[in-house]
Amino acid sequence: MSSRPLFLGIDLGTTNSTAAVFDGEEVTLVRNALGTALTPSVVRIDAAGRTTVGHKARRLLETDPANTRSEFKRLMGTSQALEFPAAKLTRRPEELAAEVLRSLRADVQQQLGVAPERAVISVPALFELPQSAATSEAARLAGFERVELIQEPVASAIAAGWRAGEDVGAWLVYDLGGGTFDASLLETREGLLRVVGHDGDNFLGGRDFDWSLVDRLLAELEAQQGVRISRADPAHAAALRQLKLAVEEAKIELSRAPEVPLLLPGLFRTGSGAVDLDTVLTREAVREACTPLVDRSVAVCLRLLKAHGLEPSQVSRLVLVGGPTQAPFVRERLAELLGVPFQEQLDPMTLVGQGAALYAGTAGLDARPAPKEAETGRALWLQYPAMTADPTPYVLGRLAEATGGAAPATVQLAREDGGWTSPPLPLSAEGAFAAPVELRVRQRSTFLVTGTGARGEPVALRPSRFSIVHGLTLSDPPLSRTLGVALADDRVRVYFERGTPLPSRRTFRHHTVQAVAKGAAGALVRIPIIQGEYELAHLCREVGVLEVRGDKLGATLSAGSPVELTLELDRGGRLSARALLPATGQVFEEVARLLVPDADPEALAELARGLRTRLARARQAAFRSAAAPTLALLASADEQLLDAERDAAAASGGDADAGQKARRTLLELEAALDALEAERMWPELEAEARADVAWCIDWVSSFGTPEEQQLLRDTVTAFERARTARQVAELQRQRRAVVRLGNAAFFRHPKAWEWMFEDAASRADDATDLPRAQALVSAGREALARKDAGRLRDVVGELRSLLPVDAQSQQLAHRSGLR
Ligand code: ADP
Ligand code: MG
Repeated sequence: MSSRPLFLGIDLGTTNSTAAVFDGEEVTLVRNALGTALTPSVVRIDAAGRTTVGHKARRLLETDPANTRSEFKRLMGTSQALEFPAAKLTRRPEELAAEVLRSLRADVQQQLGVAPERAVISVPALFELPQSAATSEAARLAGFERVELIQEPVASAIAAGWRAGEDVGAWLVYDLGGGTFDASLLETREGLLRVVGHDGDNFLGGRDFDWSLVDRLLAELEAQQGVRISRADPAHAAALRQLKLAVEEAKIELSRAPEVPLLLPGLFRTGSGAVDLDTVLTREAVREACTPLVDRSVAVCLRLLKAHGLEPSQVSRLVLVGGPTQAPFVRERLAELLGVPFQEQLDPMTLVGQGAALYAGTAGLDARPAPKEAETGRALWLQYPAMTADPTPYVLGRLAEATGGAAPATVQLAREDGGWTSPPLPLSAEGAFAAPVELRVRQRSTFLVTGTGARGEPVALRPSRFSIVHGLTLSDPPLSRTLGVALADDRVRVYFERGTPLPSRRTFRHHTVQAVAKGAAGALVRIPIIQGEYELAHLCREVGVLEVRGDKLGATLSAGSPVELTLELDRGGRLSARALLPATGQVFEEVARLLVPDADPEALAELARGLRTRLARARQAAFRSAAAPTLALLASADEQLLDAERDAAAASGGDADAGQKARRTLLELEAALDALEAERMWPELEAEARADVAWCIDWVSSFGTPEEQQLLRDTVTAFERARTARQVAELQRQRRAVVRLGNAAFFRHPKAWEWMFEDAASRADDATDLPRAQALVSAGREALARKDAGRLRDVVGELRSLLPVDAQSQQLAHRSGLR
């Protein structure tokens, strides 16, 4: 089996279905037995109970309509059963959908030699729970072990090249299918893509084009031969079906040819004998007959834009999806009426499937069956994103249960192309490590995992390699703000970046700033947990505190004692914190609060209380600076808050709708307050960020590898984009990425640690533990003379942890007792 991942995406369409696979680098369409990428969503069951799917079944729609079913997607989620009289069988819509999925699954196996077990399946933006559940059920029936669903317009946008953090404007996805039209307005907000609005017409599609052409031909027949055929006459139903199929084929051919002959001898029988149809269908005729239908779809688009306060000129891109959008006259008409640019070369028929496959990559949903006992060695449990927009994502590792050999003392990660290697990563007492890895931009990076034992001997680990793709990420951010811990020098140790998928858990080692005597009431190490996008702790909001209190200590904690802090967010966004003091083995725990607001009345009330405080503070600031527009905005915020509080109260009385409404209002209010605060702090923020970036550019241009320099250029471009757009979160994210690169380059300078040491040594007289600091300075000098870089590094770390923290910044930093 190939070592490349296999991500499968399926567009389970009303008219046609497609499957595509993504291997981390390229998307390939899956071909069916007829060699085409389109499988009509048509199922036929014959008298013997044999099932036929796809093109063959579609042809039988004409000759055996009673036992052939199409468009069952429209019935998904209903209990309506479909009859197959010849076989005396009935089938539920999801059972028929399962037949289509089974057939696509067999095509994948045929083409790639792997029976896929997992896939992403697209569903219309308006599918609700029962319809989505029926889709999942269909996948289960088709033999999939796990599926994830993605909204069709989101899949289209991904395939059309949407990338995290780029293209800030709105996108319009125009999806005209066989029988339905869907218009979706998408927007990228701070690197995440979402459907912000939707409109459509459930009875507008290619099928209507066909019927309007049929009507036109019937009118022609009447004018030229005096024969009147009515669509209302059951005697002509079969002939009309045949005509419609012929017209549809001709219409499709017209995308390539200017005109197509249509010859159906003896199609109709009337009292006066057989009537031949012998005509030529031209592009012009189709344009005339169908333009009113296209105009109807445009009206829907304009209505959607208007509902969101947008003009077509404010839409940055149009994504065309669905068979009819291949017709040149449709494209011309859309260009004429909407004037929004679109990409010519995308395939509107397979775009959704391609996007679903790319998304499967994002979700890490590898379709291949799990290998059985392939590797040997000590089992390691690794956690990393399969695909991410972060060029330096974290990889977390932990030793599994003690089987498969001795435990390593350190683990090292190395990118296979040799472009990057981690330092040896020591395992914590719990056998865990965490380290950022550097990805190749917009490519797949494979990392090798090696272990080294206490005596320097190699230790085999499994898995011995893993891959991460740098590219887009897609998710609704469960964590809307970056979460971290305030440090006494007013900096922030980030635990979870915003957008981190939940559940999530992370551990870092800190040191105490002051000593805390055993048994001392009132003495404590305060560990403030804060949320926000700022580098300075005092600008972020405290959302919880963990206290290590003297009266609970088993032994006195000297200054500089290590504290291992673990923050954990469960699936529902509930935060808990746990501090371990390795010196005594004592654990301090606190279950903090809910950070992802749900519609639970208690959580709503708490959210409202917090907002009220922030609103008051914002008002004070606005009065001080006499900012009239801000004051007006705050007055309306006040009203909104009152509404939300009323709704929250109704929610505790059992009105769930009111709860949802309150939650939405509060979230909007929170976002508005964030924006207001960001505006106030922007000058300070921007100046600091630019200084950081300038420092890093210097170092990376002198000491970075070519890959790092490329990565820096990309990151600085993203940084500048965020700066121009004044996006606080994105600016900070990119700034952190730049600083990581800058630090790596700085420490490549042969004198870097010497400089760090001299700086720390020059302040040693102020150390909290003077004798220890002096001993460390001598140890450092010796290490320097011996050129023992490793020892020097340890000395600097320890020495710095003894340096006093400025009391004022500690006060500002939510009185943090950690560094
Ligand atoms: P669905 O999303 O409903 O599964 P599709 O996107 O597969 O639908 O579109 C099917 C429709 O597209 C049919 O009505 C078919 O006639 C029409 N169609 C396919 N190719 C073309 C073409 N080249 N020109 C015009 N219409 C086309
Ligand atoms: Mg479709």
